[in-house]
Amino acid sequence: MVAANRFLRTVSALKRRRWLLMRRSVQILIVLAFIVDLPEIGRIAAGNLSSSVWFWNVPLTDPFVMLQSLLAGAPFAKTVLIGAAIVAGFYAFFGGRIYCGWVCPINMLTDAAYWLRQKLKIKGNLTMSRELRTVLLVMALVLSAISGTLAWENINPITLLQREIMWTSAAGLTFLAALFLFDFLVTRRGWCGHLCPVGAFYRWLGHYGRLRVMAVKADACAGCSDCIKVCPEPHVLAPLVAKKAVTVTDSDCTRCGACLDKCGSGALSMKLDLRRGATFRGIPIVKK
Ligand code: SF4
Ligand code: SF4
Repeated sequence: MVAANRFLRTVSALKRRRWLLMRRSVQILIVLAFIVDLPEIGRIAAGNLSSSVWFWNVPLTDPFVMLQSLLAGAPFAKTVLIGAAIVAGFYAFFGGRIYCGWVCPINMLTDAAYWLRQKLKIKGNLTMSRELRTVLLVMALVLSAISGTLAWENINPITLLQREIMWTSAAGLTFLAALFLFDFLVTRRGWCGHLCPVGAFYRWLGHYGRLRVMAVKADACAGCSDCIKVCPEPHVLAPLVAKKAVTVTDSDCTRCGACLDKCGSGALSMKLDLRRGATFRGIPIVKK
C-alpha cells in the first residue's frame, strides 16, 4: 500500500512536470546527437547548432548565422541556403522562440540560475529594457558587414557551450560562469529575456508562429497568477489572466510549457492556432 501510494505520488509529480521533462529530453538529445556515436549507426548530427547535417543528408543552418555570413561577404552556398530555409520555415510556422525553450543548450544554464535564485530567495533585479537584445542583434549584423566576420559567432555562448562540452577551456568556462552569475545575482532571466540577440532574431522570425498557449477553458482560470510567476516572459500571459485575451500572441513566448505545468485548473493548453487576426494590443507589463 505504501509502495502504491509512493508510485502514485511519483506519477503525479512527473505529470506536473511533463512539459519540463519533455523540453529537457529534447535539449539533451540534441546535444547528444552531436557528440555520441551510436553502435552500427554512427553520429546522428555533424557540425554544431550554427550549421549541421542531420541523418547524413539533411542540412540545417541557423538563419541568423547565415545572415551574418552573407553580410560578411561569404558566397551563397546552396546547401547553406537550403538548411537555412528549412530552419526558418519551421520556426516561422510554429513560433520562433521555440528555439530558446526547446533547442538552445544555454537555456539549461539560465534555468538552473533561475532555479537557484528562487531557492535562495535572491532579490537583486537590475531593471533592463527587453529591447537591448534587439540593439545587440542589429549591432551583430552591422559589425558582421563592417568586419567581414561572423561578429556574434565569435562570442556566441551557444556555440561556446557546445565547444565546452567537447573541449573544456578556462576562457570558455569563465564566460559561461559569468553568464550564470549574471542571471543568478544581477537580474531575473537577464540573459534570455533581455540580452540574447539570437532570441531577438528568432522572436522576429517567428512573430506569427501558430503554436500557441491558449486559455481553452477560460472560465476555469482562478486568476491566481501562478502561471505568470513561473513564465520566463511574464508579460505574455498578463492578457490571459486579466481575461482580455484567450491566446498568447506575444512572440516573446518560448512555448516552454512552464505555465501548463504550473496551472492546476486545466485552463491552459498548447495548440496549433490557424485562425487569423487573434492579436491583442495594449499588453500590460507584469514585473516580478
Ligand atoms: S495558473 Fe491557471 S488558474 Fe492561475 S491564473 Fe494562470 S491560467 Fe489562471
Ligand atoms: S506563456 Fe507559458 S509557454 Fe509561453 S513562455 Fe510563458 S510559461 Fe512558457
